[in-house]
Amino acid sequence: MTSILQTLSCADNYDPNSLHVDRARELILDLLSPVTGHERVFVRQALDRVLAVDVISPIDVPSHDNSAMDGWAVRFGDLAATGETRLKNIGTAFAGRAFEGRVGAGETVRIMTGAILPQGVDCVAIQEVVRVEGDAVIIPPGQRRNQNTRRAGEDLQAGRPAVPAGRKLRPAEIGIIASLGIGEVSVRRRVRVALFSTGDELCSIGTPLAPGAVYDSNRYTLWGMLTRLGCDVIDMGVVRDDPAALEAAFREAAGCADAIITSGGVSVGEADFIKQLMAQLGEVAFWKIAMKPGRPMAFGRIQPDGAERPGAWLFGLPGNPVAVMVTFYQFVRPALLKLAGLDPVPPFPAFPARCVEAMKKGRGRTEFQRGILFQENGEWCVRPTGAQGSGVLRSMADADCFIVLEHERETVGAGDTVNVQLMNGLV
Ligand code: AMP
Ligand code: MG
Repeated sequence: MTSILQTLSCADNYDPNSLHVDRARELILDLLSPVTGHERVFVRQALDRVLAVDVISPIDVPSHDNSAMDGWAVRFGDLAATGETRLKNIGTAFAGRAFEGRVGAGETVRIMTGAILPQGVDCVAIQEVVRVEGDAVIIPPGQRRNQNTRRAGEDLQAGRPAVPAGRKLRPAEIGIIASLGIGEVSVRRRVRVALFSTGDELCSIGTPLAPGAVYDSNRYTLWGMLTRLGCDVIDMGVVRDDPAALEAAFREAAGCADAIITSGGVSVGEADFIKQLMAQLGEVAFWKIAMKPGRPMAFGRIQPDGAERPGAWLFGLPGNPVAVMVTFYQFVRPALLKLAGLDPVPPFPAFPARCVEAMKKGRGRTEFQRGILFQENGEWCVRPTGAQGSGVLRSMADADCFIVLEHERETVGAGDTVNVQLMNGLV
């Protein structure tokens, strides 16, 4: 395997001491490839999983020509070009109960949505426009050949892929698979992620808070974000700022996970002894990313047993709770989606909105403020969620979007247009 640190240092625009947000994301994604391994699951269990093998349609859907509306099944050729046509009612075609027989010249049958089109029929006149007088059915002019009919195979054709491998299975795909009569599919295995928090000041739920201590919240937000992404989460608890304890934790995590996520311990004051440790356990780059919040971050591979064991990717996130979430969403989430076998996508869909408050911003770094979207006179507007310190987790909890202040951007005035990344429904 080529050295990660070598690959990184040879990459264009690589400055570990001031890395552009977009470049950091690209560098990570370029190095990763999807995990291998499939499993068969029942169709309902496949929801939100990544399809591993194309689902090939064994049948045409619909499997027969049928009516798209409730109405009257007619032969287009029987209809007068102008004026009404009088036809004779000879029966009814229901969904699941076909009209046996042929519709001959001058005849029609009542037909329900989904019913097989009787032989000879190539047009359905909707019931709302048709007049019935005893046995006679009067069709108005203006009908078209094939109208209100659905052709066999117009949705899915036998022998063709109905759902492609690599697709995340949402309710629509689950429905398509069911519409083919298929009860089981092959999905990629879930990405296994080990996580632990570092810091001597961290206190666990259930123990009283000592002076100067904080409860470990990062492990809970990380657990939540990873669970939402469909990862198998291995929670390794809190690890003290102690080289032996950290080494043991990294060895254990690398033995069982595809990726390791840590929080804390990568800021300047702490990075030195961690750097030494990392040099022994694998290859890890320590980045200062040109962003706020979330400047320090470690990325690389933990492979304590060398090439013999696969090891795991490391994302060493900062300790501040908001920085954890921002770096997770901007870098780790796209990376985990790629590991899961999905096309890497930008962190979230982005669009312009009018910012109703002024915001200070210096050039040369990307800032991710947390915002709330609302509509005013049909226009999307955004307001920051109060105090934006990197320890103020409420700014994330109250938010439904990131307000992205791009690298080169300067101070934003009230009423200026900004780009927002929508988190709602995605996080
Ligand atoms: P560090 O990056 O380790 O220097 O931590 C930066 C700040 O984040 C410090 O105020 C830490 O107390 C806080 N912090 C670190 N880890 C956690 C955690 N797991 N939960 C809550 N706060 C944390
Ligand atoms: Mg720390």
